[in-house]
Amino acid sequence: MSFLLPTLRQTPSPNWSERIPAIIDLVVIHDCEGDYNGSISWFAQSKSQVSAHLVLNDDGTECVQMVPLLKKAWHVVNFNSRSIGVEMSGFSTKGFTPGELNADANIIAWLLKKFNIPCQDAFDGRRPGFTSHYALGAAAGGHSDPTTNPIVWASYVARVMAAYANLPNPLPTWALDEAPPHLMALKAPEPMPDGFVPTTDERSDEIPLPVWGPLDSPFFPLAARVMNKWLSLGVSRTIALGLVANAEAECAFKISAEGDRDRAFGLMQWWLNRVLAILAATGIDVRHEPLIERHVEAAWWELNNTYVQVWTQILNSKTANEAAQAICILYEGAGAENAPIRRGAMADRWQAFFDANPTILTANPPQG
Ligand SMILES: [Zn+2]
Repeated sequence: MSFLLPTLRQTPSPNWSERIPAIIDLVVIHDCEGDYNGSISWFAQSKSQVSAHLVLNDDGTECVQMVPLLKKAWHVVNFNSRSIGVEMSGFSTKGFTPGELNADANIIAWLLKKFNIPCQDAFDGRRPGFTSHYALGAAAGGHSDPTTNPIVWASYVARVMAAYANLPNPLPTWALDEAPPHLMALKAPEPMPDGFVPTTDERSDEIPLPVWGPLDSPFFPLAARVMNKWLSLGVSRTIALGLVANAEAECAFKISAEGDRDRAFGLMQWWLNRVLAILAATGIDVRHEPLIERHVEAAWWELNNTYVQVWTQILNSKTANEAAQAICILYEGAGAENAPIRRGAMADRWQAFFDANPTILTANPPQG
């Protein structure tokens, strides 16, 4: 069976930003709920504040690239940074032609191979692979494309699996731009016209950080002890700041926090299956352990054992902000709206705080 990819055109969209962290492990299948030319024209306008990397035409013979693959398109809110978005033109209620469905499957398979992503259903983004916009849920804006029907979705999965199995070796070249210079030269998107209200929510907005109490509250010495414990384990300051931000987001350093006690426990709010795995391997029971440093040791064990591949990716982070986002996405798997961006900003705040208050670190060495 021959393997065909559509003819490629380029129509740049101004709606893109940098991937932070620069990890791609997800391909997202969409449909436009609109026609081919209209959708391209919408994604090409900065006022839409949405985009996709690729848009496929109705019979699967032509595809337009709108954002370089190594840049972030704005199509799935919290998942933008780690994903590539592929849109089929048309409407799910009208269905799609066999030509478009097959071309879509070929493109997804090609991208998975190209980026060394496993060919598997990624469900709600809990693991690498491919998935639908719908399956990503509220954290991706709560859309229903390309289908909400599990039987129809199963046919997409089967089609992608078959296309992947049918990929020629070596992988055929397809002239996708990873970062074309004409896009890199674009200016930042023009400001919104007065009174403009975006109709879609694919672009994450900044959201407020938790309000901190006074400097003499127990919160800051606990944060300092967590920071110091990570440093004592040989973790860099950059990565430790990301871990502190995630612990703050999970439990505000209240390791015996009330509420949710029956399903999430300890510094990283582990669920019971992880609690039991940690207990079996380390003897630390995070449901009852009073010393916060022991909770850090529990996370350290997980990262170096259960999450060893993820940990390697996290360690590549260049800034505290990147580290916090990578930890949030890859280790915590937090699903809340804007969670990665928020935790990145929280890590930036910890960095500024410890820079401004170095004595809180020296005054609170790790215990135990
Ligand atoms: Zn979509």
